[in-house]
Amino acid sequence: MSRSESRAPLKPDTRLLHSGQDPLAFHGFVNPPVVHASTVLFPDVETMVSGKQTYSYGRRGNPTTDALEDALKEMEGAAGVKLANSGLNAIALAILSCVRSGDHLLLPDTAYGPTRHFADTVLPGFGVSVEYYDPLLGGDVKSLFRPQTAAVFTEAPGSLTFEMQDIPAIVAAAREIDATVLMDNTWASPLYCQPLALGVDLSLQAGTKYIVGHSDVMLGTVAASEKAWKGLNALHGAMGCHVAPDDVYLGLRGLRTLSVRLERHQRNTLTVLNWLKNQPQVGAVRYPALDSDPGYDLWKRDFTGSSGLCAFDFVKDTAREQAHAFLDALALFGLGFSWGGYESLAIPVRLKGQRTATKVAEDLHSVRLHIGLEHPEDLINDIDQALKKAFA
Ligand SMILES: *Cc1c(COP(=O)(O)O)cnc(C)c1O
Repeated sequence: MSRSESRAPLKPDTRLLHSGQDPLAFHGFVNPPVVHASTVLFPDVETMVSGKQTYSYGRRGNPTTDALEDALKEMEGAAGVKLANSGLNAIALAILSCVRSGDHLLLPDTAYGPTRHFADTVLPGFGVSVEYYDPLLGGDVKSLFRPQTAAVFTEAPGSLTFEMQDIPAIVAAAREIDATVLMDNTWASPLYCQPLALGVDLSLQAGTKYIVGHSDVMLGTVAASEKAWKGLNALHGAMGCHVAPDDVYLGLRGLRTLSVRLERHQRNTLTVLNWLKNQPQVGAVRYPALDSDPGYDLWKRDFTGSSGLCAFDFVKDTAREQAHAFLDALALFGLGFSWGGYESLAIPVRLKGQRTATKVAEDLHSVRLHIGLEHPEDLINDIDQALKKAFA
């Protein structure tokens, strides 16, 4: 990594820049080459049959994929990391690596919608039963354990509603029955939350969001503990998973600037929300890094920062037309799914039919915002004029 080993343990900001980096292996160029490859040649048949050459076939990885996997392995404190075609693909891969026919999987009611779709439509066909739990249960999730419970999925904060989960308490409960704990950590990224240090076995990222950071690539990552690594690595190889080198390279490039981007997303989000929460058209604001948020204490204990994704409810009795007029009146916030790029985005949120294990206010109209890297005053002005227009 460097000419001489550094003495003091490096801070995450520093590791973000230097992990997985080996310039002297590539003639001194700072970044690794983008290796486009299927065939890899061997110098002689003995080397070919020995299985000892580092690279043997494009599908099994190359110096570009290794660079990103190694960087994330160091950032996540993992036994190993595997890349996937998208965040959802990473989630499917991780779940399939730790459940078998006859097993029972627990999923939080606040899981990302497509995660639910995968669990509901694919897993039952393979004999895996799926049960949703209240994300606020913490260690009491054990009341739902069965002899067949093999894995507990977590996501914090939850999709759309931003509930925090007590991850260490869930880990402690799951350890008693040797169940695998997974965590979708896309919101905080490995920079602001370290799932494996909290005892999680499989830490998931939609790299599409903050790691890539520029809304131009789909990517997923799975970081595994010692216990989960063997199963993950084997399934990844057996299924022929592979991410194109150009996309991997852009993921690696994005990773290097994650810290400065997240710091600005965090600062802008707090500025916008501290203004937004006092607006007469606005009900609850959902963001665990606000000290008024019910998840604040857990966030403060387990996370070291917050990102740009948040939501707010309009006050009760706001009409659908008003909520939609607000979104249409926004000029700087794009209407678009996904998030984690440099730009601000908004989507309408209706919880009707989206939760099955908990009660939510189905009649409210809400908006999910991704606060981008624009100047926060411009974002506030944009929201202000849109609120005034919609509620005129
Ligand atoms: C977007 C997202 C995913 C899925 O990532 P894709 O790359 O879009 O497949 C997973 N989890 C969360 C929390 C997300 O927001």
